[in-house]
Amino acid sequence: MKKSVLKKYAYLIAKVGANVQKGQYVELTVDVNQEVLADYIVEACYKLGARMVKVRWTSDKVEKTTYKKAKLDALCEFPEYEKARQEYLNEKLPCMIYIESSDPDALNGVDVAKYTEVRRSNMKIIKPYRNLRENKYQWIIAGAASPAWAKKVFPGVPTKKAVNMLWDAILKTSRCDDDPIKAWDEHNKDLKKRFEYLNSLNLDYLHYESKNGTNFKVWMNPLCNWLGGGETGQDSGIYYNPNIPSEEVFTSPLAGKAEGIVFSTKPLSFQGQLIEHFSIRFENGKVVEVHAEKGQESLEEMVHMDEGAAMLGECALVPFESPINETGLLFYNTLYDENAVCHLALGHGFTNLIKGYEKYTQEELFKMGVNDSNLHVDFMIGSRDLNITGYTKDGKKVAIFKNGTWAF
Ligand code: ZN
Repeated sequence: MKKSVLKKYAYLIAKVGANVQKGQYVELTVDVNQEVLADYIVEACYKLGARMVKVRWTSDKVEKTTYKKAKLDALCEFPEYEKARQEYLNEKLPCMIYIESSDPDALNGVDVAKYTEVRRSNMKIIKPYRNLRENKYQWIIAGAASPAWAKKVFPGVPTKKAVNMLWDAILKTSRCDDDPIKAWDEHNKDLKKRFEYLNSLNLDYLHYESKNGTNFKVWMNPLCNWLGGGETGQDSGIYYNPNIPSEEVFTSPLAGKAEGIVFSTKPLSFQGQLIEHFSIRFENGKVVEVHAEKGQESLEEMVHMDEGAAMLGECALVPFESPINETGLLFYNTLYDENAVCHLALGHGFTNLIKGYEKYTQEELFKMGVNDSNLHVDFMIGSRDLNITGYTKDGKKVAIFKNGTWAF
């Protein structure tokens, strides 16, 4: 990848993504295979006035070895210095920049139950800390092409070429063109028009129908807004873009009120395992049945991770002809695949969607019908023939999606 292009991308991440302000702390989490990009991002953050940028290096290989070799109780230990770090994050509220470049198969061979247990145990300790900083700090997830990931997306293509092809796809779908700042400004304006219209409808529930068998109703939370693109930090008022790319307009539905069955339209990569051709059936808002042609065990682990893992935290609308779907690629990575077509997410909902959320604690917000869980997993249900009909509180029927795309 050309230096100048990579620098432009790094600046897009720091400026439009995190929107780093003068004097702010930044934490960058990035794989050891992305040293050049990491350096450019660090440089861009300082250019924007960051006080200090700390890098947390990750490695697929080391993570896999650790999960295979270390004992479960050792992996679940949570040392005091990690608690101190959580307190530090709550005090300084650094911008969190995450660069994803993992091999989708990175954790193949790792015991799924063991991995899930470690996450569950660690999250139990981290969650109360995280609740205190939720919505208050800027964060951004963006991607970077690594050889292992590129080989997965482009099997049979020589490694170097595959990496370049993946970079091209990442930059294109991230709107990293001649003037990415302007492109993102326009894109955010378009998303805003759509979510404002949805907010004006006063929707009671949505009905999804597709020839693949999807026939599903989900009820809206009357206290929740629809949102898309950038978000504004609580207290700071700083506008940032948590996902690059982002094509979705989304809301958190009412926890515990959904009926019917949804069929996946793309494979789901969960904790390094692929789940394919699956369906999820809901009764009284909860998952009661799952079927997967591949990855049944992972899917079951997922929906049983905790109480909220069996309920929905997100409904997202993405037209079938999105730039990501138009690449025709399966990225095996949620950041990209979730922005390809319409999706739902099991688990954690977004408390900042509650109108006037600043006035409440996280616990209060969850009591208002936003689903609470340590899990948040998006799965794709959008298809060329997906129709979504909205039913408003005052009994009107409104076409939301027709043949896989916006009906308004
Ligand atoms: Zn989403």
